[in-house]
Amino acid sequence: MKTTSPTDVWEQLAAYSNPVPSDVAGAMSRLDVEVLRELSGEDATEFLARCPAHRALTGKADRRPSFSVNSRSGLFHCFSCGYAGAFIDLVEDRLGLSRAEAFQWIARQGIYRTRDTEEQPERKKPEERITEAALALFEPPPAHALDSRGLKAEACAAFGVLWHPGNRHWILPIRDPNTGELWGWQEKGNRYFRNYPQGVTKSRTLFGNLAWKGSTALLLESPLDAVRALSLGIDGAFASFGAHVSEAQMRLIKVRCSTLVLGLDNDTAGRTSQDRLYARWRPRGLPMRFLDYRGTPAKDLGDMDDDAARSAYAGAHYPWRRRR
Ligand SMILES: [Zn+2]
Repeated sequence: MKTTSPTDVWEQLAAYSNPVPSDVAGAMSRLDVEVLRELSGEDATEFLARCPAHRALTGKADRRPSFSVNSRSGLFHCFSCGYAGAFIDLVEDRLGLSRAEAFQWIARQGIYRTRDTEEQPERKKPEERITEAALALFEPPPAHALDSRGLKAEACAAFGVLWHPGNRHWILPIRDPNTGELWGWQEKGNRYFRNYPQGVTKSRTLFGNLAWKGSTALLLESPLDAVRALSLGIDGAFASFGAHVSEAQMRLIKVRCSTLVLGLDNDTAGRTSQDRLYARWRPRGLPMRFLDYRGTPAKDLGDMDDDAARSAYAGAHYPWRRRR
């Protein structure tokens, strides 16, 4: 049984709800974001200000004002550069606070109400809890499977990747990012994958070596692509299990690196997600570059031969160069 410290409680509160200060305009001013205009709507007011993230995102200060905060929801949005989030994100960004500290800062201003976020933990039924013993059914991936995907045995071992000998599927563990506790796994075949147990909480963790810290991390969608990256000697690879990367996942990355290469899939969902992550996280002090897919039809890192994959990583570029 894990004990819960007061800090944990704050972390949980902060992660699961979005506090909105009772005086949004006053709180903005204490964050050095001066309200320049107000637009009153039926049941809420939009407070307009110069966008505090504009310079980091576009290289230019906002002269318009393009930034607006809703008095009821506390949600903010810059209609020019796309910087957006919940009020607690603005507090974190402006004051350089952790999530829990930002929550406490808002609590001290007086909370108007809290709004649930998209990040409610998916409920796990007790009977679905699994233990390490469940992995005893599986074995290290055999040579032919490694060869077929250009993976190295050491890279699989480093990420705890296993093999289901019965149906010849890959077993990709999903673990608690803080304790390493096994939550479940993703089982992957050629045109098949499923998560076990059903509803396992992927959005609150990452696939990869969660003990890793370093200068440059690489974020991919598919766990096997992260194993491929490590097999090529690329350190700090993580996978988000899909094109949607949650706030919790980005926070896990941000504390582990000083710069991030975004290598989501080379398709519409991946590109849209990367643009959104850039707009959201660049102003929060995380420099990002994009994996270089220019001139390749490859959908992801797993689709490329070794040389192409290495040069896509080495040629990672800032987003604005892509549009030229
Ligand atoms: Zn802006």
